Amino acid sequence: MSDVPKTQKAVVFEEVNGPLMYKDIPVPTPAKDELLVKVQYSGVCHSDLSIWKGDWAQQLRFSPKMPLVGGHEGAGEVVGMGDQVTGWQVGDRTGVKFISGSCLTCEHCSAGWDQHCVAPGVSGLLKDGSFQQYACVKAATAPRIPDSCDLAGVAPVLCAGITAYTALKNSGLKAGEWVVITGAGGGLGSYAVQYAKCMGFRVIAIDTGDDKETHTKELGAEVFIDFAKSGAGMIAEIHKLTGGGAHAVVNFAVQDAAVEAATLYVRTRGTLVLCALPPNGTVKSHILNHVGRGLTIKGSYVGNKLDTQEAIDFYARGLVKTKYRLGELSKLEEYYQQMLDGKIVGRVVVDNSK
Ligand SMILES: [Zn+2]
Ligand SMILES: [Zn+2]
Repeated sequence: MSDVPKTQKAVVFEEVNGPLMYKDIPVPTPAKDELLVKVQYSGVCHSDLSIWKGDWAQQLRFSPKMPLVGGHEGAGEVVGMGDQVTGWQVGDRTGVKFISGSCLTCEHCSAGWDQHCVAPGVSGLLKDGSFQQYACVKAATAPRIPDSCDLAGVAPVLCAGITAYTALKNSGLKAGEWVVITGAGGGLGSYAVQYAKCMGFRVIAIDTGDDKETHTKELGAEVFIDFAKSGAGMIAEIHKLTGGGAHAVVNFAVQDAAVEAATLYVRTRGTLVLCALPPNGTVKSHILNHVGRGLTIKGSYVGNKLDTQEAIDFYARGLVKTKYRLGELSKLEEYYQQMLDGKIVGRVVVDNSK
């Protein structure tokens, strides 16, 4: 670890919704089972904004650590490691994802659902994340990033890409079946449309605006529905298009009404997968419809270790792309403001050296 400096730049906040300070802090020391990662690029996810703002304070199982370095979409390389780490070399490429450490022994880890670990290491929430130049992640669950990936583009795959891909896996769809993706033009939705196409599903993208139509069709959507134009007619439109309703719906919309509508246009015995996390959002499903048509509604939360590698593999093979704008770590607060103002198309990825 001879080239690793003692201090680094980071964006730190000391209280929820408090000032975001770009300042020098010590470079962390990896625990015995951790990697020290030089984080070169970091995606800026809406969840980072929500954690800083305290949007989920009422519902979170855990309180954020304070002071906190946010960020959970970091990509870079290994520059050091604890003395019990095996299988990693200095120079290997890896990243900082949302779940950057699971116990691997609890009931959920044992069943292959390590994202639901009872004692997770959560970057940018329970441990310092990727908005710093050096971060620690647990070696056993760290993602492997192939040399063919550009680090800036792969960074958002580590949260948004994994989340979208895993939701599609959890939908139980088979190739040739119809999937509706709501909020399809956003960051998560854009990945979902691409992964769905790769997996052989027929995609109906729901969003609003001509630019979103062009964007989602370029990514592989077969049909685009503008919810603002279709209104309540959307339900009949989807039943007609699909011959009985979409086999699955993956929800990235943040309005409760969008979820309720999905329970009506999903096919009998179909599945609705919830992914978006609107603060205080609730699901309303009429029981007669739900029971009578045998619907399944399930939550899907990031992905496990295998989902992570599979999601990265699609990106590494050039089948899935990231639309991003390159920014600078020191200007994180500006990007949060642009997010709040709805001015960001795709992702902002920050260069952690600036
Ligand atoms: Zn995220
Ligand atoms: Zn566990």
